[in-house]
Amino acid sequence: MRPWRSSLVLFAPLTNADVRRVGETLRCMCGCSYTVTSCNMLNCSGVEQARAMLLELVRKGLSDDEIRAEFVKIHGPVVESEKLKRYREQIEEDFSKLD
Ligand SMILES: [Zn+2]
Repeated sequence: MRPWRSSLVLFAPLTNADVRRVGETLRCMCGCSYTVTSCNMLNCSGVEQARAMLLELVRKGLSDDEIRAEFVKIHGPVVESEKLKRYREQIEEDFSKLD
């Protein structure tokens, strides 16, 4: 599952299915209405960096939730897509039951 031997992947994070899946729940930081996975703007400021970071976290073995948490920590709640917001509300509800 882990593409350790493929250095090509470093330069093309979207070839990694996990990166695409998690990126789809994160908003692109350039202010466009796309997600990290779907932004295809020329001169988009930051999506390449965001994808590289996603790949790094995926390769570290973090779960989808942990990766999203890292993004929110660094970029703030603005990165959360609507889909993710609903998802998080559900998670927080589940967590509040555990407290
Ligand atoms: Zn963008």
